[in-house]
Amino acid sequence: MEVAELASRIDPDRLQIFVFGPGWGESIALRTPPGVWLVIDSCGGIGSEAETIPALQLLSAVGEPVEGVILTHPHGDHTVGLDLIIERFNPPLIGCVEHFIGPDLRHSANNGAQFDSEKARPAQAAIGRHWSQRPETKWEIRAGDVRQIGATEIQALHPPEPAIAAVAARQEPNPNDLSTPIAVSWQDARVVLGADLPEAYWPEAIDACNWDAPSHGGLKVAHHGSLKSQDGNLIAAADRERTWICTPWHGGGRHLPNYADTEGAEILLASNPELVVTSLTRKVAQLPEPLTRAALESAWVMKESKLGKLTPEKHTAEIAEAWALLSFTPDGVNHLETGTAALRVLP
Ligand SMILES: [Zn+2]
Ligand SMILES: [Zn+2]
Repeated sequence: MEVAELASRIDPDRLQIFVFGPGWGESIALRTPPGVWLVIDSCGGIGSEAETIPALQLLSAVGEPVEGVILTHPHGDHTVGLDLIIERFNPPLIGCVEHFIGPDLRHSANNGAQFDSEKARPAQAAIGRHWSQRPETKWEIRAGDVRQIGATEIQALHPPEPAIAAVAARQEPNPNDLSTPIAVSWQDARVVLGADLPEAYWPEAIDACNWDAPSHGGLKVAHHGSLKSQDGNLIAAADRERTWICTPWHGGGRHLPNYADTEGAEILLASNPELVVTSLTRKVAQLPEPLTRAALESAWVMKESKLGKLTPEKHTAEIAEAWALLSFTPDGVNHLETGTAALRVLP
């Protein structure tokens, strides 16, 4: 199927959050009544041609206005195609921590081999260009900032000013440390979109939220489900139904989420009956339902490389199939739909 076909799933009376994650990137497209959109981060295929950028494809098909674009942080798995989205839709609001956009882009190029800083530069440059040419679009994100997108209130939960100064002063700052989780509030629906924020920052981020963040009804899990990015309160057990969505990531021999014992997927599944992961490997596609974490782990880790090492198989999902869609009614009840590449992992 084509991403554009997802336009048929739009329900005008609900808050809808599309999470795209084909295995090497993450992008969120949020639609709120009365028919306006917010895009948070972008991902796409090699070469970042427009036809591989899921949010761009969907929004082009829908034809409704994009009221805001947010870059949570300039890691290559969150930036591909964001420049094309900004140029195409000219959003009246463009949010990013200013530290990531200034003339000195050196700080974006850190964190060793874990990401490709070249992939982030077009998005950084587009934001810088629009901020200077259309200053009214500029949202220099700080913890606690609130903006209105249609009928929906969004709030940045990180970073506070002292964190920006502290991280910027480091020799090798990691953009994840300044990444921006977004709290979403519409009618009775509450959602936390966790960016790539590490665990150490979460208690303060939760404090910054103007509603009780752990009471969320939907969570885009922080940092592709890595163990070191999960906050105990945010993922504590609850007696209501909630949907947790994780986008996978792989690169440099590391793969997230990790399905092994004591790793991220296990602690996420300790407190919620199911974890939705937006894409999977070829081998996992052949596993029978229901899909448990243990079954996933054994299927996931065994692939011999040319050097004879056993490494996890890469995620190979089609972009148009690697998605999850959360649709909230005004009373906060949430309905989940997923693409054929997504998997629903049980403990
Ligand atoms: Zn990431
Ligand atoms: Zn990151």
